[in-house]
Amino acid sequence: MTSTAAIFAARALPNTLGIESMGRRVAEIRSVDDLIAARRALSGDGDEVPMVLGAGSNVVLPARVDRPVLLMQIRGLAVAAKDQHSARLEAAAGERWHDVVRFALGQGLGGLENLALIPGTAGAAPVQNIGAYGVEIASCLESLQVFDWQAGRIEVWPREACAFGYRDSVFKRPEGRGRIILGLSLALKHARTMVADYPDIALELNRFGISSPQPIDIAEAVIRVRRRKLPDPRRVGNVGSFFKNPLITAEQADRIASSMPDLVRYQQADGRVKLAAAQLIDRGGWRGRVRGSAAVWKRQALVLVNGSGAGRADVLDLAAAIQADVAARYGVTLELEPQVL
Ligand SMILES: Cc1cc2nc3c(=O)[nH]c(=O)nc-3n(C[C@H](O)[C@H](O)[C@H](O)COP(=O)(O)OP(=O)(O)OC[C@H]3O[C@@H](n4cnc5c(N)ncnc54)[C@H](O)[C@@H]3O)c2cc1C
Repeated sequence: MTSTAAIFAARALPNTLGIESMGRRVAEIRSVDDLIAARRALSGDGDEVPMVLGAGSNVVLPARVDRPVLLMQIRGLAVAAKDQHSARLEAAAGERWHDVVRFALGQGLGGLENLALIPGTAGAAPVQNIGAYGVEIASCLESLQVFDWQAGRIEVWPREACAFGYRDSVFKRPEGRGRIILGLSLALKHARTMVADYPDIALELNRFGISSPQPIDIAEAVIRVRRRKLPDPRRVGNVGSFFKNPLITAEQADRIASSMPDLVRYQQADGRVKLAAAQLIDRGGWRGRVRGSAAVWKRQALVLVNGSGAGRADVLDLAAAIQADVAARYGVTLELEPQVL
């Protein structure tokens, strides 16, 4: 059996929230062989299921993690097949997501442009079905290569097996435990129907006088809008949106709208209504508010930031205060978006 010490070592865990977190047993995974060696080193039978970490841009970590941690760093990015109209792009889990988007655009392929500049790795993108400006990764995903830790084998999962929902997939549920994403197959198009009608993006295109945008124009508009609104995690610790937009019944939405006529509502295919969590939080005057070492970002109420040296408890206390306020005023439960470990 491979020695655990040869593969696992204690080290600080990467996370964009900037919380100091020490992993007791951490292994860098650069190949499938590394993964198999890590499994063998732990117990050999897959009983001890590790946690996988990409860039740590959607996690709230504790100060100390005893569970084994695998840092996903398998690289590889290629066009695997193409014809006149479409192409299949293969991305390994450890690739930076924004590099995947840039690579696709460089090949003249559309489909990922609205998802430009989302931090993190390709392997984590399907976990919460990353989405932005009207597009989710599920719309382009053909299949995933998944390592079943307990069985110790690689499987190919078609998109349908992933049970994608709004910021949700099977990988967040008990059935997804021990399933490690190794790679993505993305189905992209040369001439794609683009989604450019999201208000912020439409305005940005308009500002630059672009009336028939190419995928690259949309990506550039998205990048400019994101840079204006969101804090750069290299300077200000954050995990992007801390809350999901709530899905409620039409009756509930009507009730709220009766005292808030400008309520933002997005009708869903299943009859429910999605509200903009940022609007509900904003109405409580939370934007820019500081509480201990954590704060609400001044330009976007959905984003909580690490002011200086915040720990998990500081950030979660602020989140809980916001949740309680929104629940008291609107009867709406705000769910957290990052994984709290
Ligand atoms: C400034 C900022 C803006 C953001 N904007 C958006 C946005 O617009 N839309 C959006 O959807 N998200 C957004 N996010 C959240 C985040 O970027 C995404 O969720 C991203 O996919 C996380 O990637 P990661 O590699 O950092 O994952 P991590 O934080 O490392 O992990 C997240 C979860 O995925 C699991 N995981 C990671 N890799 C694997 C793997 N290979 N196999 C199985 N499980 C895995 C982890 O165990 C964990 O549960 C934003 C974050 C920041 C900081």
